[in-house]
Amino acid sequence: MDHIKELREDFVSRNLLGVSGLISRMIPPPPEGKAFLVGGIVRDLFCLVYGPPDLLDVDLCFTGDVSKWSTLIARQCSVEVTFEPRFKTARFWIRSGSRDLHMDIAMARSEVYENPGSLPIVTPATCKEDLGRRDFSINAMAWPLEEAGYCRESLVDPFGGRSDIRSGVLRILHKNSFRDDPTRLFRGFRLLSRLSFQWETETQALVEEAIFEKNILLVSGARIRKEFVRVFLEKDPVDVLKRIYVSGLMEALVPKARWSEVLESSLMEAVSLSRMIFGGETSSLLPLQWASIKEWCHGETFFYLAILKGLQEEDLVRAIKALGLVGKTGLILKEAILDPSAFSRREMQPVDFLRLVCRHLLDAGLLYGPMACEARTDGQRHFLAMLSVRSGKNRKEAFLSGEDLIGMGIPPGKRVGEILRDVEDGVREGRITSREEALHWVRKESLRS
Ligand code: ATP
Repeated sequence: MDHIKELREDFVSRNLLGVSGLISRMIPPPPEGKAFLVGGIVRDLFCLVYGPPDLLDVDLCFTGDVSKWSTLIARQCSVEVTFEPRFKTARFWIRSGSRDLHMDIAMARSEVYENPGSLPIVTPATCKEDLGRRDFSINAMAWPLEEAGYCRESLVDPFGGRSDIRSGVLRILHKNSFRDDPTRLFRGFRLLSRLSFQWETETQALVEEAIFEKNILLVSGARIRKEFVRVFLEKDPVDVLKRIYVSGLMEALVPKARWSEVLESSLMEAVSLSRMIFGGETSSLLPLQWASIKEWCHGETFFYLAILKGLQEEDLVRAIKALGLVGKTGLILKEAILDPSAFSRREMQPVDFLRLVCRHLLDAGLLYGPMACEARTDGQRHFLAMLSVRSGKNRKEAFLSGEDLIGMGIPPGKRVGEILRDVEDGVREGRITSREEALHWVRKESLRS
């Protein structure tokens, strides 16, 4: 057992030194003050057993003048640094091998919360004091950037984060933590799900208390919305949402929110739809529309449709406000959930198209198996066909080629492309099911024109 512990220690120490060495080589050393790797990156290096750390996002805590150091970095590394004078933070992207790495330098600080849920007042502090303002012990560890060799004592770990990682528990640092910042509840549920950890016993009691007191309602809608986006971006967002529902936290924001199998299926569908649309592919058939979906709904809309469906107007309006769904997203969701009429205009604006997407998702059983569901109306069939065209599995066979059309006497040029697209539409909508039918349709069409 000791041997395994030693091996693990050795493994972690080499990784800590490797990462801090890599960062020190990428940026010039600070002219004064001490810099530390902190937060998620240190946690993930100790959690290696849960998978490789995400080396795309590096947080540094710094005891010197952030403005001076960031100016030096900008000059020597030719990167564009965004310096925020009020909170003394600097952010920039820097090339690391073939990837871009995001670095965030923050002045070591202590924070005082004047009111629950408000933003804190910030004053300069030591690294140890800085760790005291953090959410969980496992996120409150720091490793000096300029450390040349590994020494167990170099790890700044005042709240026992390393031991909590070994025990698989999530512990807050003081009993007012969730009152100060109720968004930590969301952060906690994300980490519990991601790492398969459990709340530490006292923390668990404080979670229940915070949920019971509905402190989350003191947080601005904009901050709540940010937390949900981070939930949706987790590897298993449905599991995180399940925890949020089952704990009772969701009910404070969305009236009558209850976890159910139907909701779970809808959310799984939302995951696959948003990944399909936002996963980097774009449909060649509907570039404008897909681009507009990306621009207008940022992937959240499908999740919110699943979460909010079935609410009556008064509850829906309350939930939309509590979730911070202001602007276009809130309007579209409200219309899509409440408006019983379908959109069928031919010349649609991007926003109409998005409403149409929402409308049809709701009509077609709301996300619940839309790909598999038997579409009831022509509009639904067309819409589902538009979605399924994106998955290779569902892509319909192309019965005709451009050469076929030219062979039939259609002159080479733009018209050939137009006819092929019309045939594709016919195939997707189920009007054309074989090569014979496609040929027949083209003959009829060319006679007509
Ligand atoms: P992830 O892997 O989700 O990005 P992370 O821990 O790196 O995890 P960030 O949001 O980048 O997440 O935050 C960096 C660090 O800042 C956290 O590890 C934590 O120490 C601290 N932190 C962030 N948000 C809060 C908060 N609301 N309250 C207290 N500390 C926070």
